[in-house]
Amino acid sequence: MSSNRTYSMIKPHAVADNHVGGILKMIEEGGFRIVALKKLQMTASQAGEFYNVHAERPFYGELCEMMSEGPIVAMILEKENAVLDFRTLIGSTDPAEAAEGTVRKAYAKSKSENAVHGSDSDENAAIESSFFFSGIERF
Ligand code: ATP
Ligand code: MG
Repeated sequence: MSSNRTYSMIKPHAVADNHVGGILKMIEEGGFRIVALKKLQMTASQAGEFYNVHAERPFYGELCEMMSEGPIVAMILEKENAVLDFRTLIGSTDPAEAAEGTVRKAYAKSKSENAVHGSDSDENAAIESSFFFSGIERF
């Protein structure tokens, strides 16, 4: 059964470039309600744990470095069909393939620095949300 919730984070390059407000505006106007929100910086080892599913991929080292180079904005978002609808809102991993009107089309710089993360399943949304947020941080 769907939780109607997904986990997202605004990646370090987009936070550093002052795009937090612009991205949150697209998310809220896209019909998502913010359940939890905070700014924090991951260590490379925490980024490695978060992206452990990609440990064998050639870009894993670069990914962990990029995700820990500065603060991120972490959030839990709620909407009917949240996981799929959020991936539609953010667009393709590679900004060259991201559709017009998507967050990545507007704010991604490359396939690596692609502005935002979005969970890929309800199961991972729950795991990823609990990696960053306790129960009393969710409203
Ligand atoms: P995310 O999980 O961050 O929402 P995604 O699901 O669209 O992105 P994944 O295949 O899960 O894409 O890859 C995770 C992240 O790893 C990407 O968002 C991107 O930052 C990075 N990444 C993916 N493919 C590449 C690549 N070929 N080169 C460099 N970085 C990559
Ligand atoms: Mg992914």
